[in-house]
Amino acid sequence: VVCVAQDFDFFYFVQQWPGSYCDTKQSCCYPTTGKPAADFGIHGLWPNYKDGSYPSNCDPDSPFDQSKISDLSSSMQRNWPTLACPSSNGFTFWGHEWDKHGTCSESVLDQHDYFASALGFKTQLNLLQALKTAGIQPNGRFYSLNSIKGAIKAGTGYTPYIECNVDVSGNSQLYQIYMCVDNSGTKLIECPVFPRGRCGSSIEFPSF
Ligand code: 5GP
Ligand code: 5GP
Ligand code: 5GP
Repeated sequence: VVCVAQDFDFFYFVQQWPGSYCDTKQSCCYPTTGKPAADFGIHGLWPNYKDGSYPSNCDPDSPFDQSKISDLSSSMQRNWPTLACPSSNGFTFWGHEWDKHGTCSESVLDQHDYFASALGFKTQLNLLQALKTAGIQPNGRFYSLNSIKGAIKAGTGYTPYIECNVDVSGNSQLYQIYMCVDNSGTKLIECPVFPRGRCGSSIEFPSF
């Protein structure tokens, strides 16, 4: 008998704007492979429950193994750069994401497919292009939260959740964009529930 555990309801697919990670009080460090492109980078693909809670660190017997994603590493460096200090080559960040989040969706995505799927969703979404098409550019100007959400809905077909953080001058800015993926890890869906948190009604889109 094959038992299919219903161990989570959907994924958040989260991308970060590097300019907003780096212009904070905490600052950032570029990866050892060099300054990332001025594009959104992947933060993670996170299994979640519809009640807003989420599982984490689900399988200590399946630790991150970088040899399983050797075919993806150049794409990972371009699309999933680490900005934490001290500088690293990315494997520390990717390993953290696998151990904390990826081990909770192993029933549908093994380690290779977990990272490959995230890379595919980033390409499919092309968030920066969706924003630019609507005239929303990373130039340090302020844009309404609604115009940003509308541009992404128009460009991708799905309504995002926007997470803000605060720069050194205290401005609320576009930090992370959450989209949702179904619990088989195969397709984008409208989010069943959004996280909580505040942005200003007008937020900065800093350059990088
Ligand atoms: P923060 O407290 O900075 O928002 O999030 C810290 C970490 O908690 C994130 O990097 C992520 O690993 C996890 N996390 C935060 N919010 C969520 C969420 O809504 N769903 C899931 N699955 N993980 C989250
Ligand atoms: P989370 O637990 O929120 O999924 O991931 C956050 C952890 O990954 C933190 O320990 C953070 O230091 C590390 N990390 C490494 N590189 C990055 C990065 O580029 N962005 C973020 N948000 N966290 C990173
Ligand atoms: P509504 O759902 O009526 O558009 O918004 C309700 C509240 O949630 C408002 O305060 C609005 O600013 C906030 N809100 C709506 N969408 C987002 C979002 O994507 N991110 C954040 N941080 N707040 C949002």
